[in-house]
Amino acid sequence: MFKNLKFKKILLPNIKNSIIQKVQFSEIEKFGVSLSIKREDLIHPDISGNKYRKLKYNLLQAQKENKKTLLTFGGAYSNHIAAVASAGKLENFKTIGVVRGDELGDDLEKTLNYNPTLKYASECGMQFKFVSRSDYRKKSSREFIADLETEFEDFYLVPEGGTNEFAVKGCEEILSEKTNQFDTICVAVGTGGTISGLINSAKTHQKIIGFPALKGSFLENEIKEYTTRKNWLLTSEYHFGGYGKTSDELIIFINKFKRETNIQLDPVYTGKMVFGIVDLIKKKAFRKGTEILAIHTGGLQGIEGMNTVLLKKNRLILE
Ligand SMILES: *Cc1c(COP(=O)(O)O)cnc(C)c1O
Repeated sequence: MFKNLKFKKILLPNIKNSIIQKVQFSEIEKFGVSLSIKREDLIHPDISGNKYRKLKYNLLQAQKENKKTLLTFGGAYSNHIAAVASAGKLENFKTIGVVRGDELGDDLEKTLNYNPTLKYASECGMQFKFVSRSDYRKKSSREFIADLETEFEDFYLVPEGGTNEFAVKGCEEILSEKTNQFDTICVAVGTGGTISGLINSAKTHQKIIGFPALKGSFLENEIKEYTTRKNWLLTSEYHFGGYGKTSDELIIFINKFKRETNIQLDPVYTGKMVFGIVDLIKKKAFRKGTEILAIHTGGLQGIEGMNTVLLKKNRLILE
């Protein structure tokens, strides 16, 4: 279905697959379980990790439909907003970000001064539409989208978090020959698109464990929209109170992990996942000899914004 498509000006689809690194971390040394990390965070400096995977076939589709503009949704520190802005700049699309929080638009200059994500997106040329939290909740409704269609010229709509069938197809490419040796594959979960791709492309001996970064049980049903396989489960213990919430314990963990392994984790997704994996290893949830592969889905652009917020509250920050 995609094979005759080619980017006119192609940067993104030529990205090579990411490396796999075995991790030496003091807290898990004595449990007889190995942990490796697939460094999707290194895939591209600005469109990192799973956001690149999720955009790839959406960009091809947008080109095929001759769209000149990408429109998408996100929160004020969203990795997805940053990725779409960057991809638009690289591949010559105009970009529009519908961002949660109408107060952010009251004084845009001030907002951009303290919010590095929106500042970056703006520098990439993204145009913002700030909406109230209640309007934002209606963003998938037909009325809301019809209003956007009246307001803006013809656009290609990338859903929140980028998840749709094209995104899942892109995420199926995260696993490869080189990941066959692993029996357990772990990934952070937001909207469920990334884990759906992994579930679809996993070998029969592989089990996928998802670590939701947010509270709630609706995710299982979202995932079932993209897959019928049963080789997966979600743990609900490691969301740290909800989306974007952190604790000192989590920050201390991320800093220690970085000091020992040289791998930077983000506080919203991958930090919670690796914390969860380490905790499960300590609780002997994996039998001896298990080879675990954790997918580093990126998200490092969010650290600066998170630190700004933490500093204001006089809390510990990421090193
Ligand atoms: C968006 C994101 C996720 C979640 O991906 P979904 O496909 O929405 O589940 C995980 N990790 C990072 C770093 C992300 O930016």
